[in-house]
Amino acid sequence: MKKHDNLIAGQWVSHGNYQENRNPSDITDVIGLYTHGDAAAVDDAVAAAQAARAGWAAATPQARHDLLEKTGRALAERAEEIGRLLSREEGKTLAEGIGETMRAAQVFKFFAGEALRQTGDLTPSVRPDIDVEITREPVGVVGLITPWNFPIAIPAWKIAPALAYGNCVVMKPAELTPGCAHVIAEILHDSGCPAGVFNLVMGRGSAVGEAIVTHPGIDAVSFTGSAATGGHIAETCGRLRKKVQLEMGGKNPMVVLDDADLSVAVPACLNGTFFSTGQRCTASSRLIVTEGIHDAFVAELTRQMRALRVGDALDPATQIGPVVDGRQLQSNLDYVALARDEAQEVIGGDRLELAQQGFYQAPALFLGTTNAMRINREEIFGPCGSVIRVADFDEALAVANDTEFGLSAGICTSSLRAARDFRRRVQAGMVMVNLPTAGVDYHVPFGGRKGSSFGPREQGRYAAEFYTTVKTSYVFAG
Ligand code: NDP
Repeated sequence: MKKHDNLIAGQWVSHGNYQENRNPSDITDVIGLYTHGDAAAVDDAVAAAQAARAGWAAATPQARHDLLEKTGRALAERAEEIGRLLSREEGKTLAEGIGETMRAAQVFKFFAGEALRQTGDLTPSVRPDIDVEITREPVGVVGLITPWNFPIAIPAWKIAPALAYGNCVVMKPAELTPGCAHVIAEILHDSGCPAGVFNLVMGRGSAVGEAIVTHPGIDAVSFTGSAATGGHIAETCGRLRKKVQLEMGGKNPMVVLDDADLSVAVPACLNGTFFSTGQRCTASSRLIVTEGIHDAFVAELTRQMRALRVGDALDPATQIGPVVDGRQLQSNLDYVALARDEAQEVIGGDRLELAQQGFYQAPALFLGTTNAMRINREEIFGPCGSVIRVADFDEALAVANDTEFGLSAGICTSSLRAARDFRRRVQAGMVMVNLPTAGVDYHVPFGGRKGSSFGPREQGRYAAEFYTTVKTSYVFAG
């Protein structure tokens, strides 16, 4: 069985304690063994990053561009193979795994271009004979902590801007999905990334993640994961005066109005709620449906949901892969049991026993629910959606906004006025009209409001807000 090591100062380093990475579609399939580091490994990685820091900050835009471009090209060329690894370790369908790998490639290529497009402002002073120059500089050494649900795209959209803007990186991927992050580390290493510029330390959040967040040599932390861990990291970074960026959970509303086209609304809800096994922070978990279309919408969504094929992620016929692990599956099943108490009706949601031993669950729809129920307040993070019946647009908007989260929100309608009103008044970082709440572009900002996000946006040119710091210089030419 292949052993995978950490990357520190340009060397592959074993920290022993190899953990098995298992396939949630078939738990007898062991993908590989991955070393687990600890706080001492983080010390070494931070020291390496600090040593490389000045050199990388001074590297030409061309050098940064070339590294990112080469990495993006390698990811694209190997998309089939890496997509298969992704599907094996996370449980996404093969099409989703390959698509996510291609997305990671596009992100690296986008930021390769951004490395060449770094500009500043030159402006006259309000005083005579003085010029003012405003430039951006790297933040320094950034700690990146990522979740399991997008094991290659989320590392890519943190690593690529960090490196493009001249920072050095210490990264910890989720324990459940170290494989894809390890592949990115291999590609960066093989593409000529200078020693110490990118460091990978695999291991537990409570050990490696905590050590990254508290280390005095880490200048900024970018985290994606649960609200609970994010809150803890924000408090620590606040106390230690570190720059911090958090992307956390969602309880995303999808409003379906009476005038919606069902042939648009149902596929949008089917995709947003159940695809990727519902394990997306942008998943549509609250389907808020007005009276006039409610019954027809529920009937058609139920029909299409029941027809979804749940199975092995690598089987080309599979539309919904397994849940990522036994703990997440049990949590989903507990929410289905809660829904049986709270909702008027529960369709699906049971554990499925298939030919191979995996964590399979039938998609679930909860009917006759209200927004006050726990199933509509807490993030489930599985293939489960609730239908909330409302009278009209105003009630739909009020329900959509009645949540502690604010990541993505959607509306299906044929009314330009309703769509416009919703876009302006919904409290979310991203709004979708006649589109699923999940599924975003890579060249524009990603992030939310309220309990979903904290700090500057990720992705696109807005990533510069987090990965750079602004300097204002005054020059007297008199
Ligand atoms: P967690 O918050 O448990 O973990 C996220 C990462 O943080 C993992 O790498 C984890 O390590 C690490 N971690 C855990 N504890 C600490 C700690 N004390 N200090 C530092 N790092 C720590 O989330 P999950 O991985 O379980 O991901 C699922 C959750 O993430 C969902 O709630 C989902 O909504 C949210 N999410 C949000 C996204 C967004 O963009 N808004 C995108 C994707 C997911 P370990 O390997 O030990 O788990």
